[in-house]
Amino acid sequence: MTVKRTYLDHNASAPLRPEARAAMLAALEVAGNPSSVHAEGRRARAFIEDAREQVAALVNARPSEIVFTSGATEANNWAVTAGWDTVLVAGIEHDSVLAPVAFSTIRTIELGVSPSGAIPADRVAEAVQAGAGRLGRALVSVQLANNETGVLQPVAEIAALARSHGLHVHTDAVQAAGRIAVDFAALGVDLMSLSSHKLGGPKGLGALVIRDGLDLPAALRGGGQERRRRAGTENVAAIAGFGAAAAAAARDLERAPRLRELRDRLETGVARLTPEAVVIGAGAPRLANTSCIALPGTAAATTVIKMDLAGVAIGAGSACSSGKLGVSHVLAAMGVAPTLADAAVRVSLGWNSEERDVSAFLQAWDALRRGLRSNETPAASPARAGQATLMTAGE
Ligand code: PMP
Repeated sequence: MTVKRTYLDHNASAPLRPEARAAMLAALEVAGNPSSVHAEGRRARAFIEDAREQVAALVNARPSEIVFTSGATEANNWAVTAGWDTVLVAGIEHDSVLAPVAFSTIRTIELGVSPSGAIPADRVAEAVQAGAGRLGRALVSVQLANNETGVLQPVAEIAALARSHGLHVHTDAVQAAGRIAVDFAALGVDLMSLSSHKLGGPKGLGALVIRDGLDLPAALRGGGQERRRRAGTENVAAIAGFGAAAAAAARDLERAPRLRELRDRLETGVARLTPEAVVIGAGAPRLANTSCIALPGTAAATTVIKMDLAGVAIGAGSACSSGKLGVSHVLAAMGVAPTLADAAVRVSLGWNSEERDVSAFLQAWDALRRGLRSNETPAASPARAGQATLMTAGE
């Protein structure tokens, strides 16, 4: 019997939206190279320019500020290594921000993180003042929302402060775009990274938003594509899919309160079934779709595997790129105790989540809890406990 699947791992990758699929199929039919002047080429170009407008509209940027990339990993790598002498960054950033800086000769200044997961703007002020006059061409990189906890950062405040000291600002808006209103112009940042597959577009496509007028070295050199900023024949179908997903996500922004209700129902259910569970980051402003839950004493890997067997897909640690199950550097940077961090799983809803997904999650969580409890009771047979879980899985 096949188990009906419940997908609650949108922060790792969201299911493809029908609008994105339709746009991609239409674009795949076009033979032309978007750089060619003939009709076929112009048709391919039109897909790209339409998508550029749709992505720009999602984040209130100008179309001329959008450069398509192979994903947010590329956008982040490009942004943080683009000729800076110093990069100021906190330990909660995605690996695609931290690793390229760590593997370069760029001087790094670490920004502190409060236990709630937020980067206090005054810590940035302290760091900037401490380094005053010695930073050279400097960048502050602060994410808008965290992929593991959903915690939001005061990017506008940090950007105003950084710019008043002559620093440039990058924000990784991968998890925020399409989930909260994101305004590139109002945030006052110079650079912003976006990813298509987090908002229901295809995987392997993203964008770096580059403030008009900012002088940034090209990501790739060769042909003159993307205004000479990123050479290479464009992935037209994926770009079209990203554009359609961005337009749909912009339209769906009004669904955020509904997602919050679903998430709150999920967290209330978890608290009722397992009062010992801790929601990490619950005390800070956070995305309406994300819940980082630790069940003390149960390894995240165990929870993820048991929930998976019961038909429910959730994430563990920063599992969004490799499915790895390991210690989360994000939770470590927040000062979460290792025993709690080891137990943390991530539940993330999205554009197609519904009431019944939360019900299925809670049913599986209840079976998990009963299995764990009976494992703890010496009188209970572990085999029977396992059976109970799998029976629920088959329902
Ligand atoms: N930044 C954040 C916050 C992310 O969650 C991810 C995806 N795991 C990335 C960057 C990388 O995005 P992509 O998968 O498009 O390379």
